Amino acid sequence: MTRDHDYKDILDHLLNAVYTTDGTRTITYWNHAAEQLTGFRAEEVLGHPCSEDILMHVDGEGNSLCRNLCPLAASIADGKVRETLVYLHHKDGHRVPVQVRTAPLRNGAGEVVGGVEIFEDATNHITREDRLSILERMAYLDPLTQTGNRRYLEDTLKDWTEEFQGNGWPFGVLFFDIDHFKNVNDRYGHATGDQVLAMVARTIQGNLRNWDVVGRWGGEEFLVLCKNVDAPTLKEVAERLRLLVEASTCRGEDGSDVQVTVSCGVTLAEFQDSPELLVSRADRLLYRSKQEGRNRVSFG
Ligand code: GH3
Ligand code: MG
Ligand code: MG
Repeated sequence: MTRDHDYKDILDHLLNAVYTTDGTRTITYWNHAAEQLTGFRAEEVLGHPCSEDILMHVDGEGNSLCRNLCPLAASIADGKVRETLVYLHHKDGHRVPVQVRTAPLRNGAGEVVGGVEIFEDATNHITREDRLSILERMAYLDPLTQTGNRRYLEDTLKDWTEEFQGNGWPFGVLFFDIDHFKNVNDRYGHATGDQVLAMVARTIQGNLRNWDVVGRWGGEEFLVLCKNVDAPTLKEVAERLRLLVEASTCRGEDGSDVQVTVSCGVTLAEFQDSPELLVSRADRLLYRSKQEGRNRVSFG
């Protein structure tokens, strides 16, 4: 085996697509990754000039690069390495974004005798489905707290109400409101207020079962929806979350520890409940907790 073969063997197994040309840009080598990325097999392109418009690179403005702007031709001409994003023509007709590096190939005397182009797929590998689910998640996400937003809560409440009425799967609602939150903003500033909101959300989210959901209903109000629960369990969950929020601390901008408490209204879905009825009942119970001194849970 010659050194040349060793070298091509290595190139064949590279993940990057590679091809080489002689000084007239006739293709002399085309590796497996180049076959995969372009759809053209080596035997279809070897011996052909790449200026024959095989790959028909275009730039982001749609300019054809083959005739005048070919980066490989430029590297062969001036001996410099180039790197650029181009769009190549796949054998099937579509355009593939590729990051391209071109470099001159020199003989033993240092004279440029050809060029090498190394290119890799620059396709955004997020699939259409992934992109959709990201968009969907974003439409349901409260950016500040990274929990569900109001729309998410409303849609979930609607689903769960239907499931309850159809299959009898019970669920409950915990309505939390941060106590004297206005004071936090007034004393530490709005940015710290935002941090506190995120902290409360993290504490709640981190201490729920997988199938329960939390979202931000409004300013400093959070709704937790718990599936398949009975009254004692629901009260227990609410009480635990209340305690954990009370025991959470975040650092204010002035360096001091900031702590808050929450009041909570808790209720189980009843058969005739609409989502609105259910939430307004939880809200009334929350109001009772506020009236009775805050940092407490009321069940009804
Ligand atoms: P209570 O115990 O009765 O609930 O008192 P409170 O001060 O928490 O209630 P109030 O409704 O008077 O004030 C809520 C405050 O929450 C006022 C508003 O500026 C603040 N707030 C609402 N949304 C945000 C937010 O996104 N970020 C910050 N920092 N503050 C917010
Ligand atoms: Mg409040
Ligand atoms: Mg409020």
